[in-house]
This record gives sequence, C-alpha cells and structure tokens, in this order.
Amino acid sequence: MYDVTIIGAGFAGLTAARTILKTAAKARVVVLEAQKRTGGRCLTVHHLPGPVDVGCSWIHGYKEGSAVRDLVEELRVECYTPQKAKGSVLTAKGPLDPSLTTRLSKNLSNALGSAASNTTATSEESLASSIFAPSSELFSQLASPEERNLAKSLARTLEIGMGVQLEDVSLRWFGYEDSAKGTDAAIVGGYDVLIEKLVNEVEGLGGEVRLGQHVEAVVPSSGDSHGVKISINDQNGGKADIASRLVVSSIPLSLLQKGHTSLFPSLSSRKQHAIESTHVGQLGKIVLSYDKAWWPTDIGVFTVLPKQERGKAKRKPITWVKPHATLLVYLPVPVVEHLEGKSASEVGQAMHDYLSTSLPIHSASTAPKTSVLTNWAHDPYSLGATSTPLTVKSVSAGVDPTSFIELGRPETLGAADGKPRVLFAGEHTSVNNRGSVTGAVESGLREGRRAVHLLDL
Ligand SMILES: Cc1cc2nc3c(=O)[nH]c(=O)nc-3n(C[C@H](O)[C@H](O)[C@H](O)COP(=O)(O)OP(=O)(O)OC[C@H]3O[C@@H](n4cnc5c(N)ncnc54)[C@H](O)[C@@H]3O)c2cc1C
Repeated sequence: MYDVTIIGAGFAGLTAARTILKTAAKARVVVLEAQKRTGGRCLTVHHLPGPVDVGCSWIHGYKEGSAVRDLVEELRVECYTPQKAKGSVLTAKGPLDPSLTTRLSKNLSNALGSAASNTTATSEESLASSIFAPSSELFSQLASPEERNLAKSLARTLEIGMGVQLEDVSLRWFGYEDSAKGTDAAIVGGYDVLIEKLVNEVEGLGGEVRLGQHVEAVVPSSGDSHGVKISINDQNGGKADIASRLVVSSIPLSLLQKGHTSLFPSLSSRKQHAIESTHVGQLGKIVLSYDKAWWPTDIGVFTVLPKQERGKAKRKPITWVKPHATLLVYLPVPVVEHLEGKSASEVGQAMHDYLSTSLPIHSASTAPKTSVLTNWAHDPYSLGATSTPLTVKSVSAGVDPTSFIELGRPETLGAADGKPRVLFAGEHTSVNNRGSVTGAVESGLREGRRAVHLLDL
C-alpha cells in the first residue's frame, strides 16, 4: 500500500510529491500521470531552432520573490530576466508615438487602480463597465475619438492573461489576487527544464512517477482498511487497482467541471458548487519560425492594435523569442476558440499573411518554415487554459474568493471514519495566485505538508 498517491505530474502534483518525500524520507509516494509525458500545462517544444514554451513561459514576480523562484534556486535551475526590450505598439497606421503610448499606458494603469479599489460594485458590474465608462481615467486628456479607441484597444490586451473578455470579469473582486504581478523571468532552455529536475528529484528521493496511468475512480477502501482504492486505466486497455492511505488530486478545474468529479464519490455540496460556478478561460499561442527575422530586431515585443475597436478578433500581441528568428503570437479570447484545433500550417500561413501585409514594418518575403499551434482548448487533459479572475456570472451565482479555498479543501469521500481521503491541489486551488505556476507550486507545497500531518509521516 502506498502512503500517498498523487494524480497528475504537473507542477502541483510533482511539488506535492517532493514536499512529502523531503519531509518523510520513508514515505511511499507514487505520481500517476495519464499522459505519456510529464508537465501538464507546461510544454516546451524543442524541434525549432531554439526551445519555445507553448504552455507557461514566465516566472511571475521573480525579483519580488515567489514559490517558483524558491524552487528554481533549490533545484539550481538557471533563469534570466529578459532585458527590457524596446517594445512597440503598432497600429495599421504605423508605430504609435512613444509619448502617446506612455500616456495610454498610464491612463490604463490609473483606470485599473480605480477599478481595483472600488468597494461598492454590485455583482452585475464588470471590469469593462468601469474602465470603459465615459468618465474613466482611461480616457483622461484624450480628446479625439481615435485616441480613445486606441486606449480601449490597449485595455483589451489585458484579456490575454485573464483568459476572458473584460465584459466577463467581475468588478466586485477585481484586483484582490497577487497573480502575475512583478518582474517576469524565464528559464534557460525552457520551463520543462524545471519539470525534469522535479521528476528527477522525486525519483531520487524514492518516489515513483508513472506515465500513461489514467485514474478512473477513487473510493474509500472497504472493510477495516482506512485508505482508498484507486482504479487506473493504462490507456492500452489494461486496468489495475492500487491501494493508498491518501490521494492528492491535481486534476485541472476544467476536467472536474466536465464530469471528472465522478472520479470521486460523495463530494460535499460546497465543493460541487465551487467547481460548477468558477470559470476556466482560454489562451493559446502560435509560433512562426523563419530562416531569417523580417521584423526590426531591436524590438522585443510588439503589441498590435487595430485601427479602431472594430472586432476583438483583430488583437494580436506578439513576442519575439530571442535569439532565433521566431515569432510567438499570443491568441487571446475569442480568437483562440476559432483557431485552436485547425491546421497549424494553415493558421500559420494566415497569421503570416496578416502580419506581413498589415504591419507597417519590413515586409516579409518568405512564409514561415514551421508553425506550431497550441490546442489547450481541446486537449482532453487541459480543456482550456487556466482558472480566470472571478466572472460576473460566477459572482452572481454566489462565488467569491473563498470558493478557491473550497476547491482546495480535503474531502472524506463518504468514508465511515469521517477522515480525509483526498486532498486537492492545482493552480485553481490558489486564492492569490490562481492561473499561474506560482499557484500550482504553492498548492503542491500546501497539500504535501497537509498529507505529512494527516498521515503523521
Ligand atoms: C498558454 C498558456 C500560457 C501560460 N503562461 C503562463 C506563464 O507565463 N506563467 C505562469 O506562471 N503560468 C502560465 N500558465 C499557467 C500554468 O501553465 C498553469 O497554471 C500550471 O502549469 C498548472 O499546473 P497544475 O499542476 O495545476 O496543472 P497541470 O499542469 O494541468 O497538471 C495536471 C496534470 O494532471 C493530469 N491528469 C488529469 N486528469 C488525470 C487523471 N484522471 N489521471 C491521471 N492524470 C490526470 C494531466 O495530464 C496533467 O499532467 C499558462 C497556461 C497556458 C495554457
């Protein structure tokens, strides 16, 4: 019998395993991962001239200090804080005057500050209703309709990180989280270097990491045993049961919402409500790899704004991944829902055509050599990007930040002794850092420690 069985070999599951094994060297710990690879929503592609992260890419709040920074330091993983690239905001009419860009950014920051300090918002009000209000600081000293439209378009770029449209974000709770604040750093060689180090450490400490093991059911053991029975499908049709004293689930929220709660019997009604009423957003990426860069290489990040706010599908913020000739384009809502699942080369060609004809920068002569398109929306083990800020719909259904605590609360699964049988980790269980690797790592630390205490390991 295992002491702890962990479902999922992403950051939350692997951190939980490491935390237990570092505290209790003799603990019997196994990580069961349904896919044939570790990492979950961390995925680095290595077939381009350099590594490119198509899932998570940044360690947020690196200089300020975060659980991920602690982890990279403990595991001696090399990171870098990219030099502040010469950013450029581009419109179909040409690059925006830097002083106008500065004014627009300052206005946006002020409008967000006011939205975050609003304590009287009703559950129906959205972030859009605040920052797009005629009296909003977003439009301060912007006289022309064209400038006001540019300010709105710039605000739309917030939807990349949020995974939802501004009209869906609840004003009532906007700004309470720490998520994605501070300096960003990246990992030399890609984020999966950190996953690999974690797997090696877990195995080095005596834990097992088993791939291709889809957990189908977790039920309290019958008879005198105080643990659980875990039923596994190895995806080749092979089935097996294993016994464990405790389970830590890091199954993503979207999977729990789409019926995977049937994995666990008798979840409390509070947990069910929190699962059903919180929201998972969308974010994708397309990577265009060329033989030679055709854009000005002194610009690290382009933010491409439409001439005016005609349709949200026109927003395409771009990052240039140094040092190879690669464009990484973030695909926010609602564009991503239309593009993911289509052919990478067709979408890549269309994106190339769009960029090379509509950007007022050097024209591209050749099509991309390789295009990589993410598919997080349809991947059966992610079904979306990450949990989002609280939405208007969620808040109207009675959800508030404590719902994220509820998502991380242990469950007894109806066990006769009333003792916890399953603990819940994952980015969606973090109150302050949901939607990020920081949230996933924090949740793994929290549930790893909880397992040690509960089992007295
Ligand atoms: C496009 C994109 C960009 C992002 N960018 C950033 C960024 O720059 N910085 C940042 O901090 N965060 C970013 N994130 C968020 C970050 O990737 C996630 O928050 C984090 O990786 C989630 O880790 P997790 O362990 O909670 O879940 P996951 O990584 O999803 O791990 C869960 C694991 O459980 C497995 N699993 C599910 N069901 C079963 C089952 N029944 N049996 C066995 N195994 C199962 C899955 O296969 C998966 O491996 C981004 C996410 C996306 C999609």
